Amino acid sequence: MYWEKDVETIDRKNLEKLQLKKLKNTLNKAVNSYYYGKAFKEKGINANSVKSLKDIQKIPFTTKDDLREHWPYGFVAVSKDDLVRMHSSSGTTGRATVVFHTTNDITVWTNLLARCMYMAGMRKSDVFQNMMTYGLFTGGLGFHYGAEKIGALVIPAGSGNSKRQIQLMMDFATTVIHVIPSYALHLSTVFTELKLDPRKDTKVRIAFVGAEPHTEKMRRKIEAIYGYQAFNSYGLSEMNGPGVAFECPYQQGMHIWEDSFLVEIIDPKTLQPVADGEEGELVMTTLQREGMPILRYRTKDLTRIIPEPCSCGRTHRRIERIKGRTDDMLIIKGVNIFPMQIEKRLMEIPGVGTNFLIVLEREEFNDSLTVKVEVGKEFFSGELKQLEMLRKKISEELKSEILITPKIDLVEPDSIPKGEGKAVRVIDNRRD
Ligand code: ADP
Ligand code: ZN
Repeated sequence: MYWEKDVETIDRKNLEKLQLKKLKNTLNKAVNSYYYGKAFKEKGINANSVKSLKDIQKIPFTTKDDLREHWPYGFVAVSKDDLVRMHSSSGTTGRATVVFHTTNDITVWTNLLARCMYMAGMRKSDVFQNMMTYGLFTGGLGFHYGAEKIGALVIPAGSGNSKRQIQLMMDFATTVIHVIPSYALHLSTVFTELKLDPRKDTKVRIAFVGAEPHTEKMRRKIEAIYGYQAFNSYGLSEMNGPGVAFECPYQQGMHIWEDSFLVEIIDPKTLQPVADGEEGELVMTTLQREGMPILRYRTKDLTRIIPEPCSCGRTHRRIERIKGRTDDMLIIKGVNIFPMQIEKRLMEIPGVGTNFLIVLEREEFNDSLTVKVEVGKEFFSGELKQLEMLRKKISEELKSEILITPKIDLVEPDSIPKGEGKAVRVIDNRRD
């Protein structure tokens, strides 16, 4: 049941002791980088400044912009000769950032991923199809190494090429997959096109879904279409990539591996810690990394800690499904809206298909919001009245969630372009 029972079920007191030791160690390493060397000097900080975990607050935050400004090597804390791998972020919000690893960093990261996958139920006897982009993106090689460590047979399928994905799944009786949630939904339309039923025609029993925000409803929809269990996987390249937080068989929040990351939740406005269990921005400090330690990294991801212990016996706390990024928030007619609110409502409405897109325009100083929604083919061949009723229903449901009335544009399945990577949910044409 556990990949490393001692670590996964360590009591909180010992875990915190371990964290403090690792934090000091990390500070001693970080000071060797250009960025932290300078920052520590300016602030008069060293490893001895930290006497308890709370003292982390003496250390300044690190942001994505700091990483960008010190591109490429400003955060590297070892000799370049000791680096063996580079990865980068996907660049969702601008220029991508890079992270460097030593041999030991890769070993630690691989082990974290093995821990995650084992926790969700993957074993040596499984056939694992990794449907993520290989290369700079962390989801490919990260999971690949972790799965090999468990001893599963790995099919490094990479992303895209849907028909080939399905063929591989069927020919080699794939039992576990790793997939971006929006792509899992897109793939289901290809199964339909091929007149195949993934529940009957494949042997997949477990899916790891992550890399982009998605709602609980979206997960349940994916599970219903495929008949497998979908486990939420959270990570970001700055903290290695996947393997940061992952669901256990209870699927109620993701255990965040606190032997590797020190976790804080802050109010993104005041930058002060929020009360235990309250929502805020996730901030993390690497506790094991040598090549490029990062301290108090502001992820911009919104979540909360679930303080209650989990029934699985693991003592590492759980975080709730990510609600969105602070910079995802749309302000429309003065109302704050997260794309995930729209997804949540849409996924509850029967007839709604697998993809949607939010389009913002500015018409004579007024913002307008259009939601393009893919709906079932049958709505276009049946009576017009039905389509009209669905449009009205969607409009009313969304209004009750976001308080403004969106225009609803119903479109046929698969007509909203879907790339291979993370889904694009918003097109904002308001900026001139
Ligand atoms: P980028 O920040 O450019 O997208 P990354 O590839 O490093 O680069 O992506 C990390 C980000 O992806 C996270 O900060 C988070 O916003 C999002 N993300 C990753 N996994 C999940 C998940 N399971 N749920 C919600 N968001 C996720
Ligand atoms: Zn658990």
